[in-house]
Amino acid sequence: MVYEDSFFRPIGGSELPRFAGRSTFMRLPQIEDPAEVDIALVGFPWDSGSTNRVGQRHGPREIRSNSTMMRLVHQASRIAPYDLCRIADLGDVPVNPIDLRDTLDRGRDFYRRIHEAGAVPLSAGGDHLGTLPILRGIAGDQPMGMVQFDSHSDTNDTYFGDNPYTHGTPFRRAIEEEILDPKRIIQVGIRGSMYSASDLDWAHGQGIRVMEIEEYFDLGPEGAIREIRSVVGDAPTYVTFDVDALDPVYAPGTGTPEVGGFSSVEAQRMIRGLRGLNLVGADVMEVSPPFDSAGITALTGATMMFELLCVLSEAVATRK
Ligand code: MN
Ligand code: MN
Repeated sequence: MVYEDSFFRPIGGSELPRFAGRSTFMRLPQIEDPAEVDIALVGFPWDSGSTNRVGQRHGPREIRSNSTMMRLVHQASRIAPYDLCRIADLGDVPVNPIDLRDTLDRGRDFYRRIHEAGAVPLSAGGDHLGTLPILRGIAGDQPMGMVQFDSHSDTNDTYFGDNPYTHGTPFRRAIEEEILDPKRIIQVGIRGSMYSASDLDWAHGQGIRVMEIEEYFDLGPEGAIREIRSVVGDAPTYVTFDVDALDPVYAPGTGTPEVGGFSSVEAQRMIRGLRGLNLVGADVMEVSPPFDSAGITALTGATMMFELLCVLSEAVATRK
C-alpha cells in the first residue's frame, strides 16, 4: 500500500461518475514529466504503417474513453497496480501523420526520454509499426526478449519495392538492429493465409519460437504460458499485444483481422501467466475504432492494457 494516498490514482467512480470528466488512460492524471512516474501510459496515434485497413490513429483516444471502467484491483490476481507504482497518462507520441520516417524518429525520442527518466512505458496504438520506435527508445546494452501476441509474425522484409517500414516489418528491423534477441522471442497466435509457404522461414531461421494457432489450441493457455516462460526466461522482456491476435468476433475493429483466433479470456489468462517475468514495457496495438462495433475492440484493448498494467507494475515494484 505504498502509494495509497498518492496523486497518481484513478478518479473514483463516486467522486465523479465514470462517464464524466477528462478522458485519460484509467482516469489517471495527465502529466508531462516522466521522471515523476514509474510507469508511463502513452498513446501512439498512428496508422501510416498500415497495409490494409487504417483508423488505428484513433485507437488511443477510444481506448482512453473505454478505460473508464478499469477499477483499482485485479479481480483474479488481486494485484493493485496503483499501490505498487506511480502511474500516469503521459499523453500521445507527437506523430507526424504525413511523414513515416520523421514519426519513427519522434517516437524513438519520446520513448528514450521516458526510458532515461527511469520510467517504463505501457502504450496503446496505433498500428504495429509503432512498436519499433518504442523498442528503439527503450533499448539498452543487451537485446531484449519479447512476447508477441499476434496473428502475424511481422517479420516481413520490404513492401512495394524496398520500403523497409510497415506494420508487417517492425520485428525484423528490431532483430537486425540487435534490439531484440530472436532466440528470446515467442509469437503466439500466428495464422492467416500466406504469401508463400516460406513466409515464416526467416523467423524460424533466426530462432524465433513461432507458435501457430493450431499448436496454441492444442496446448491451451496453460501450455502456452509454460512455453512463453521457458523461451523468455528471467532476462528483460517486452510484451506486445496486437489485438488481431484475438478472433475478430472479440476484436473486429482492427487493421488486418484474421478469423480463427483465441478468445479474450484466453488472452487474459495468458497475460496473467506473465506474472513474475522481468517485464520492461508493453503495448496494445492495432485498435481501429472506425472498423469497430459498439466499442468492443476499444474496451477489449483497454482491458488488455489493465491486465498488462497489473503484471508490469508488479515487475517494476520488484525491481525498485
Ligand atoms: Mn502485428
Ligand atoms: Mn497482426
